[in-house]
This record gives sequence, C-alpha cells and structure tokens, in this order.
Amino acid sequence: MTQIIRTVAELRPIVRGWKAAAESVGVVPTMGALHDGHLSLARRGKKECERVITTIFVNPMQFNNPDDLKKYPRTEEADVALLTSVGVDVVFIPAPDEVYPEGFITTVSVGGVSEPLEGRMRPGHFDGVATVVSKLFGMTEANRGYFGQKDWQQLQVVLRLVRDLNLPVTVVGCETIREGDGLAMSSRNVRLTAQGRAVAGVLYAAIAAAADDIRAGQSDRMAIREAAEKLRSAGFERVEYIELRDAETLMPSDDTRRPRRMLAAVWLDGVRLIDNIPV
Ligand code: AMP
Repeated sequence: MTQIIRTVAELRPIVRGWKAAAESVGVVPTMGALHDGHLSLARRGKKECERVITTIFVNPMQFNNPDDLKKYPRTEEADVALLTSVGVDVVFIPAPDEVYPEGFITTVSVGGVSEPLEGRMRPGHFDGVATVVSKLFGMTEANRGYFGQKDWQQLQVVLRLVRDLNLPVTVVGCETIREGDGLAMSSRNVRLTAQGRAVAGVLYAAIAAAADDIRAGQSDRMAIREAAEKLRSAGFERVEYIELRDAETLMPSDDTRRPRRMLAAVWLDGVRLIDNIPV
C-alpha cells in the first residue's frame, strides 16, 4: 500500500519501523509532474531496496527564475496514482514551510563542480539542490538515493556532496529516458507548443552527431559549432551552451583517457531544455 505523508514527524516512525526490521530504504527525490523518467528511478529503487520513498517537492530555493517556479507544472493526484502503480511505499509531499520552517538559515554549498554551466547560468541553483537533497537524505534516512543522468551536473554535485560530507547514502545515477524522437523526458516538455515539440528532438540528434564526429576525430569546436547551427536552423531561439567537459569535474577537458560528457542548454518556445551524452 502506498502511503501519502506530508510531515517529517509522521515519516520518522515509519522509516524507523522499516530499519528495525533491517529493511533497506531508497529515496527518489522529484519535483512532481512525473513521467517515465521519474518512474524508471522508482522502479530501479524497488528492485534494489526493500522500501522506496518518492519525494515530491517543488523546491523554491533551487529556482533562480520566479516565473519558472510559478509556471512549474503541479499534478499531485496523477503523480500519486503513477507511484501507486509502481508500488512505492511512501510518497512524501512536504509543504514549503515543513522543509524551510521559520528561522531556517543553514545552506549547503558544493564548490567546484557546481560552478560552471548550470551553476553559471542559474546562480544559486545548486545551493538549493545541495541543501534540499541533504535535508531529504536526513528526513528519509535513506540508504540509497536515485538520480537521473538527465541532470548530469546535478548528479555530479550530489556525488560530491555525499563524499565530502560522509553522508551514509549510496548515490545511484540512472539512464536518461527519452521520447521516440530522442527528446529527454522532462516535466517542462508539456510547456512546448505542438510546433516546438515537433522539432525538440533535434537537440538530442545534434549533440549525438557532434559526439560521434568528435570520436571520429573532428575538432570539438567544429563539431559543437555544427550542432549549434542545426539547432538554430530548426527554430531553437537560443543556444545557451554546448560544451565538452570532464564527466566528473565538469571542467573543460581534452583528455581523451578520462570519461567526457557533452552538455547542452537551449531555449525553444520560451522553454529551457537541457540534455547531455557521453563522448
Ligand atoms: P525533477 O523532478 O526534474 O527534479 O527530476 C527528479 C529526478 O528525476 C532527477 O534525479 C532527474 O535527473 C530525474 N529525471 C528527470 N528526467 C529524467 C529522464 N528523462 N530520465 C531519467 N531521469 C530523469
């Protein structure tokens, strides 16, 4: 049976009961408006843990753009139905003042890996992520935390956070789930117009082609320039960045012996889309 829980005071004894029975606990942090990408994380959790908690919290602290926060889709009833069908044990849906009560003043800030790319374009975003993820780990006492590779830099920030603060959680990075045309599933995709949705798959196609070209020996700059041109001619209004980086540190890298990642942020129909792939 899937339980809906809204306070830490109610969650604590449930988790303690599981732990007393030596059951392992997985947590899947989300902001709701769930799709198959989120559900793949919950299913993976179910396979690997005796108990799974999915959290739904649209974290105001990680939104640098108030309009994005206001427009963020909220579909609680449908989310709970989906999570029930997957068989998660608890859906934890705290209110903002449950997470950030009066007087809240402590924040968590991860250096280095948080700074480039998303960190530069969205000031304060990763402080919001690191703070809320630390809190969710503390609230749920989870043994394992499930995160999507879709948000590659976020995954690296969480891995760094857990290592640096010795948090007793194993972070599991899960593959990006895509639509048929390659578009990475995202809660923000519903904001695309039909016209935008029809060309959105070009993002994945363009970075996948650039990654192939780089592996085949083409220069990074040339491959990235071609990808940006494809996006502009498909109707994307802005290419914020397309970068080839060290997969772990997110710093620029031409060291082909270390894993590298191509990461992109673009605007289509006034919607900001991100994606990334291994190179
Ligand atoms: P969000 O609700 O956007 O904060 O995402 C919650 C979690 O789901 C994050 O760990 C995301 O990386 C992950 N996620 C979002 N979209 C996808 C996707 N298409 N495939 C896999 N994981 C995803």
